Amino acid sequence: MQSYAAGQSITLLEKTIGQAFDETVAKHAHKEAVVSRHQGLRLTYADLGAGVAETAAGLWGLGVRPGDRVGMWASNCIEWIYLQVATAKIGAVLVNVNPAYRANDLAYILERSGMKAIFLYEQDARAHYGEVLAAARKGRALPLEHAVLLGTDQWRAMIAAGVRPPDESAGVHDVVNIQYTSGTTGKPKGVLLTHHNLVNNAYLVGRGLKWTDADKLCLPVPLYHCFGCVMGSLQAIVYGAALVLPSAQFDPLAALQAVDEERCTTIYGVPTMFIAELDHPDYAQYETSSLRTGIMAGAPCPVELMKRVVDEMHCTEMTIAYGQTEASPVITQSSTDDPLEVRVATVGAAMPCTEVKVAGPSGGVVDAGVQGELLTRGYLVMKGYDNDAAGTAAAVDAAGWLRTGDLAVMREDGNFRITGRAKEMIIRGGENIYPREIEEFLHEHPKVADVYVLGVPDERLGERVLAWVKLRDGESLAENELKDFCRGQIAHFKIPEFIRFVDEFPMTVTGKAQKFVMRQREIELRGLEYAQRIQTA
Ligand code: AMP
Repeated sequence: MQSYAAGQSITLLEKTIGQAFDETVAKHAHKEAVVSRHQGLRLTYADLGAGVAETAAGLWGLGVRPGDRVGMWASNCIEWIYLQVATAKIGAVLVNVNPAYRANDLAYILERSGMKAIFLYEQDARAHYGEVLAAARKGRALPLEHAVLLGTDQWRAMIAAGVRPPDESAGVHDVVNIQYTSGTTGKPKGVLLTHHNLVNNAYLVGRGLKWTDADKLCLPVPLYHCFGCVMGSLQAIVYGAALVLPSAQFDPLAALQAVDEERCTTIYGVPTMFIAELDHPDYAQYETSSLRTGIMAGAPCPVELMKRVVDEMHCTEMTIAYGQTEASPVITQSSTDDPLEVRVATVGAAMPCTEVKVAGPSGGVVDAGVQGELLTRGYLVMKGYDNDAAGTAAAVDAAGWLRTGDLAVMREDGNFRITGRAKEMIIRGGENIYPREIEEFLHEHPKVADVYVLGVPDERLGERVLAWVKLRDGESLAENELKDFCRGQIAHFKIPEFIRFVDEFPMTVTGKAQKFVMRQREIELRGLEYAQRIQTA
């Protein structure tokens, strides 16, 4: 048996995000649409429809036109959803910007995406975004024309000066969203996603959860990531279900309170979020029996954790999803009624209308049970990377297969196991980190001669970032000085938590650094054998 699977063939939706939204507003006008608990807001679909219409008019009045890029740089809030739908309705392209980005990261995205407008809150507990934006703009000629502060007179003025946009003319295969993720070059790549990609992925994932308009989703994951804005907000819109935002940024207690008080049926998270919720000292005070289903995704799910979510959270129909931004994102998902063994040991089977194969080093499909790289093909594959034909050609072959860079094994029963990463990405608490990007940044330090960044196993976060640094001859540098160099320039989760200064690196004869040797040495020196075992169990 070969490692090839094609999911069930069903009729895909041929709707834009705007059309899917209008249908739901018409059908479920008086049903609850979004509860943004930290903002004290409860909106019906009619309310959401009004908010979206106002936002679309505001954007049009600002001069945003079809094809223009509009950045959203905020943690979870109602305005995120207004902008997500409003940009789609006027034919503009939403650019998701990670709230953890700092000046250096942000400047890169502003430049690459060519965004015309960006929306942000001036500040929150984590950062003063207004100042970070000013630092990113300083000395750079950027195409950015408008920076609109949410929740201020600037936002209200934009709404007040709104001009009704013409009727929607976007096509289902037009690009509607750019989500940044990192490729092998180390710098974030803009993944171009169409209405068709996103509406259908949201539709099929909801179908996998047996969703109806009676479902209510507790969404502690960020909207800037596809987990939040495709499987979360867009999926709720496609199904006319209710979306509950417990907090701006992940807060385990707020998530538990939301499930209890809102009687949510569905909960999402990366594994570390479920661990934080289940281990919260007040966990027992909250009622979670309304939960039926949910999704754990983004990183390997430890077996024990899945068992606890099913038993202790009462989430009997919990599923695992696997995918990546370039695939809209979900490629495989376990079923709500799969035996627990399938749900803990695998990431499920190919989604409907989705082909999956596992290929060996020469590109040929391997036999079931043999490890190789996972590739996928179908409606879900991105349109490409923004302004990067070479990167796109390297990721998607002429026959339409997307190389995920993940190592996998297909079992005889058609379920897949993810066994590693062909690329070197580090996943720290659900955040993807690309060593090359940090290496390039650290190389900018005048005292650094060479540097390699790798992930070391961690019991709580899965992995932590570590750097091996070789200084220029005669130079000295303290660990903290190097960390200070990173602060405010790169996102906090990218800053190496551990730094080892070395005189040389383990190398192959062809001059390639052997990161696996560095990693093994760190595991021994730091006594991380146990963490390593639970990560690979
Ligand atoms: P992103 O593009 O941010 O969605 O990250 C995608 C990457 O996360 C994939 O290429 C995998 O390496 C990893 N990933 C996502 N879901 C899972 C999962 N269920 N199990 C293991 N790894 C996962």
